[in-house]
Amino acid sequence: MTLQVLVAEDSPTQAAALQHHLEAAGYGVTLARDGAAALELAQGASFDLVLSDIVMPGLDGFELCRRIKADPELQRLPVVLLTSLADPMEVVRALEVGADNFLRKPYDPDQLATRLRTILVQRDVRAAGRLQMGVEILLLGRRFSITSERQQILDLLVATFEDLVVTNRQLRVREDELAAAQIALEEQLRAVGVERERLQGVLAALPEAMVIVDGHGRVTGASEASEHLLGLPPEQMVGRPLHEVCRVVDRSGAPTASIAALRDDAARGEAIVVSSGFDTYVARPRVGPVPVVLHAAPVRRGAAGPADVVVMLREVGGLAYHDPVTRLPNHILFADRLTRAVEGSAARGWLTALLVVKLDRVELVAETMGQAAGDQLLAAVAARLVDLLAAPELTDLADIPSGGHLGAGALGVAMPGIRREVDAVRFGHQLAERLSGSYRVADVEVTCTASVGVAVTARREPVADLLRSARSAAAAAEGRGGPSVEVFDPSTRLRTATWLRAEADLRVAIQRGQLRLHYQPEVALATGTSVGAEALARWQDPERGLVGPADFIPLAEETGLIVEIGRWALVEACRQAARWRAALPGGREFMVSVNLSARQLEDPQLLAHVSQTLAETGLDARSLVLEITESVLARDLASATQVLGRLRALGVRIGLDDFGTGYSSLLYVRSLPVDLLKVDRAFVAGIGERAEDLAVIRATVQLAHALGLMVVAEGVETEAQRLELLDVGCDLAQGHLFSRALTPGDLERWWRGAGRRTSVRRATPPPRR
Ligand code: C2E
Ligand code: CA
Ligand code: CA
Repeated sequence: MTLQVLVAEDSPTQAAALQHHLEAAGYGVTLARDGAAALELAQGASFDLVLSDIVMPGLDGFELCRRIKADPELQRLPVVLLTSLADPMEVVRALEVGADNFLRKPYDPDQLATRLRTILVQRDVRAAGRLQMGVEILLLGRRFSITSERQQILDLLVATFEDLVVTNRQLRVREDELAAAQIALEEQLRAVGVERERLQGVLAALPEAMVIVDGHGRVTGASEASEHLLGLPPEQMVGRPLHEVCRVVDRSGAPTASIAALRDDAARGEAIVVSSGFDTYVARPRVGPVPVVLHAAPVRRGAAGPADVVVMLREVGGLAYHDPVTRLPNHILFADRLTRAVEGSAARGWLTALLVVKLDRVELVAETMGQAAGDQLLAAVAARLVDLLAAPELTDLADIPSGGHLGAGALGVAMPGIRREVDAVRFGHQLAERLSGSYRVADVEVTCTASVGVAVTARREPVADLLRSARSAAAAAEGRGGPSVEVFDPSTRLRTATWLRAEADLRVAIQRGQLRLHYQPEVALATGTSVGAEALARWQDPERGLVGPADFIPLAEETGLIVEIGRWALVEACRQAARWRAALPGGREFMVSVNLSARQLEDPQLLAHVSQTLAETGLDARSLVLEITESVLARDLASATQVLGRLRALGVRIGLDDFGTGYSSLLYVRSLPVDLLKVDRAFVAGIGERAEDLAVIRATVQLAHALGLMVVAEGVETEAQRLELLDVGCDLAQGHLFSRALTPGDLERWWRGAGRRTSVRRATPPPRR
């Protein structure tokens, strides 16, 4: 018996081609010019399957399908939609109207025949009651039942995602490649915005700033997260012209054409507009220009009317730029704001002040009452600080000060555009008085004293210097006891006594050879084989025992001793690695990673030292990885890029450490000479707890691989984390699950023992003291 197919297709040539292929495959074919004709035919005669184009005049494919499925007589008739699948939203709509399957245009004739045969066989099997199974999926907040015969639709969704990944790769060679890859990701987001009410739910949940604009340039909706970037709650944006709620400017503060152009393009319904790069900022009255990456995409709804535009704004480096405890900008973002404050003020001939506030009780409370209590106190102080920053008496200053969390219980305030030092000192006194006082922490009154250090500059002074000055002034203020303010005196460059003593101790330690390197194994996730180790510095102090880097590296960074320590670490690690490559079983693959500080990158002798060290130790350049942290790039991207490029030309590989915590938008990683990304521990720790963290890792891996970069996860502590990381395709891992940092002797034993080849080593030795 010949099976009868009803074909709905408005294009005569397409219809003829379909008829030809279907008849060749042995089907009987009836053609309908549009949806209405097809419906009438279906109601009048018996067919085995309907094959329908989506876009047709009058009744389109979706509507035809919906009506068939709503008709009790016809609802068992399988409907297959033909789509170019240009838009993943079509899949969602098809699910809604109850379509049984998809065929992609342009289709392959063989595939067409096979697909139809499969559908018909499945239908028969199901009719015989043998195949009632299926899955329920939750998509865009709605439940869809996908029976086995509609499994293909899921396959297609997967295929769509695969297409996106392949596209990423292909675009690598082209200038706009990464921007396009991001759009691909945002396409997925765009697919989320199908209908208005659902959109509202999405807008509330969306962690990014997103504004929807109609064809006349008016805001019709905004994600709740936009408030953080644009400073207005979404309800206050709706109805206003886009350029009022979102002022896009360049570095000099001049409006850029992007927004106007965007609206015009949208009115013409033109393709996606992307404006990105490093010269796009959103002007914020109290915050100053915030660097953003901006994407815009017109959303077409049917043929009529001008298109809506979805505008996505992402603060550059916006993965983790706020301190979770105080909700203030973290030290990296704060340093960036301070840089911009200094530059802006200096250009106008004004002053910038940096105030560092130190709180005497935060650490004590954390030690005695627990970390949570310490955090609570810090958060309460930060909240008071934010109120003070919004105080009306400050509004007569040219620019509004902004706050930040500098770490270790210290808060910072940047005051750009001031005319006299005394304005900063006066505000410093206000801070010292108003932030000192009693706070309620875990039902206990805690009395806290705030000491404020002030440093003022008229020049384009490096923020690191400004921070050091204000910190040392704060330390001096703290030494005086009680709420007090100390102004840094640049003529004497005074440093506090304790600071000087610590520096002297560290110098002695270096001279007496008290520094050691410990090595933490790095493991290939797929095979469980260890591939090398990261060298981590330790200080073997005769009095204090083994001191970790957290207790001396920051000091070394501030005093510049890090350059010397770093040189020593490089030589030591290369020598050790060369030895291990020759001596350890399987050691020929051994790679050693050495941390490089920002100061070292600025050292003009760095390049010569690295090549000399490689020559002297006989280590193959390919087995050395130099790790730099993202914050290095925030300092001076251009010269960092140049130095890294030269290092790489030696054959050395470059790793980007603590990735995701600061500035490394994937957008510009592409243009950097790096070979691997080391995903920050914070994201790994969030696996299983915060869905976003795994999503960030997954996106990082996908795009890194598209760029030919390797991804290392650090701080892997649990088997569950290892499995997720393996699943998302992360290449290498290190962490306590495998091993802590070991002395060279212990590393050798570990390497030769079970550790090297079992993917999981449960019993990690305790840290050596
Ligand atoms: P880093 O480069 O991010 O090093 C990773 C840190 O994470 C190490 O701490 C390591 O012991 C720790 N870690 C590794 N696995 C785990 C885990 O599973 N769980 C947890 N909680 N921690 C884990 P460490 O040795 O205290 O080093 C701290 C930082 O000091 C390093 O961070 C690096 O920035 C700096 N540092 C260490 N040695 C040097 C050096 O020779 N030169 C420079 N410039 N910096 C160094
Ligand atoms: Ca590192
Ligand atoms: Ca790290």
